[in-house]
Amino acid sequence: MIRIEDVSLSFGGIRAVDGCSFDVEEGSITGLIGPNGAGKSTLFNIVAGVLKPDSGRILFEGEDITGQPPHRLFHRGLVRTFQIPHEFYRMTVRENLMLVPPHQRGENLFASWFQWGQVRRQDAEVLDKVDEVLDFLNLSHVADNLAGALSGGQKKLLDLGRTMMTDARMVLLDEPGAGVNRTLLGAITTAIRRLNEERGYTFCLIEHDMDVIADLCDPIVVMAQGSVLTKGTMAEIRANEAVREAYLGHADTADAS
Ligand code: ADP
Ligand code: MG
Repeated sequence: MIRIEDVSLSFGGIRAVDGCSFDVEEGSITGLIGPNGAGKSTLFNIVAGVLKPDSGRILFEGEDITGQPPHRLFHRGLVRTFQIPHEFYRMTVRENLMLVPPHQRGENLFASWFQWGQVRRQDAEVLDKVDEVLDFLNLSHVADNLAGALSGGQKKLLDLGRTMMTDARMVLLDEPGAGVNRTLLGAITTAIRRLNEERGYTFCLIEHDMDVIADLCDPIVVMAQGSVLTKGTMAEIRANEAVREAYLGHADTADAS
């Protein structure tokens, strides 16, 4: 579904991404791991159109999308989970989902974000979809709470809910488990698995929690120093000496074993 072809990007003298190539197969939950500073988040920002690479290409369903802005990619069903803008914390969970019109992806969504006071949609269709998403994510009981009052894990579920309102097909998740308690982590991994199995979502996710990776991801891509060290199943990754060494060089994240 996504092909990353020899992508490089430097910040000043730092080669954050350096000749990185791999594919994300349609229907997979592909894990992206690697020590801090390996270039994972930068690569995600390149795929999501937030950053332009110095060289290399990104293909989405066979088409070159390199450098296309996020709203274009969004329109095609390729989304990076949204950081919920701060103002949205003063709106309820339901209102946050209502802002994302299900059948009007792309520019309209972004327009609605910037003019949300005027474009609150009340159509029955949208409300039905919102209820379905709340139910799917077990957020119905907090539907009328302010988004800002949600726990970290519930905010991540709301992020997933926003992708569901857009009928996304390919979702990039950067550390969905970070700062989330165990119970909600279970809810998030369940939601990811169900979106994959029942709705056909393809995921690529960055995560430091190896239990989450082992639980959800196949295959797993290991990045180190801007490029791909290896790609394989969890068992293959665990047995790989080069992976061990890459992590040991960064004791702060040496949790791969
Ligand atoms: P990861 O997500 O794997 O931890 P990053 O993609 O965040 O790695 O970072 C890769 C490298 O690029 C690091 O050395 C980081 O310090 C550097 N880097 C990332 N973003 C920027 C930026 N906006 N400006 C300068 N350097 C950056
Ligand atoms: Mg990162």
